[in-house]
Amino acid sequence: MDAVFFDIDDTLYDQSLPFANAVHKVLGDVPGATDSDLYLASRRHSAEVFEAFSRHAFPTDEMYIRRARETMAEFGVRLTDEQALELQHAYASRNDHGTTLSPTMGRVLALVSSRSRAGVISNGREDRQLDKLRSLGIYEWVTPEAVFISDVMGLAKPDPALFRLACSRLHVSPERSVYVGDSLALDVGGSNAAGMTSVWFNRRYPAHTGEPVPDWTVTSETDLLDLLDRLL
Ligand SMILES: [Mg+2]
Repeated sequence: MDAVFFDIDDTLYDQSLPFANAVHKVLGDVPGATDSDLYLASRRHSAEVFEAFSRHAFPTDEMYIRRARETMAEFGVRLTDEQALELQHAYASRNDHGTTLSPTMGRVLALVSSRSRAGVISNGREDRQLDKLRSLGIYEWVTPEAVFISDVMGLAKPDPALFRLACSRLHVSPERSVYVGDSLALDVGGSNAAGMTSVWFNRRYPAHTGEPVPDWTVTSETDLLDLLDRLL
């Protein structure tokens, strides 16, 4: 394989950690709740609360308070308004806790860059995604020319044109490239359509059958390291 491209959120880093770490910082341990439980509950309540507040142009403290209280109520924890806002503030300053590269993902990137080429294909705003890449410290293994953000490219996942354009910019063929991501629809669907080898990095969801079909599925960083060691 000539190149391995990675998604950012919940692929290069575990997206449950920023929220879970904010909870641990403000409230300590929550018995019976794993980091993934806390994260998935916060995602559900985010969606509900944003929907309820969708006529507002900007997020309000009231919205953040409601989201934090409803999320933690699932685990039998009652928050004061002050605690809810403290949790929001701890979560919003996420660069201090969570968006860091684990030692295993460091080994993954080192392996890829020593045997092949490492790149990033991500949907999102350029400034936010580049901030995350800097705080992850990936530039030890990934050159800036191998980073492709939808905002800059004018194309977004799952459009296979974005994956193909990234390959052509690095002078590699999609057929000899791998894409690793956590989203079946955006990452597996898009890279399959581009003719790449798709790896579904499923950190926390139930197993999946049906379309899109990943070429490979891994459920931990160690499994990802083993798989890429075999593929490259
Ligand atoms: Mg992702």
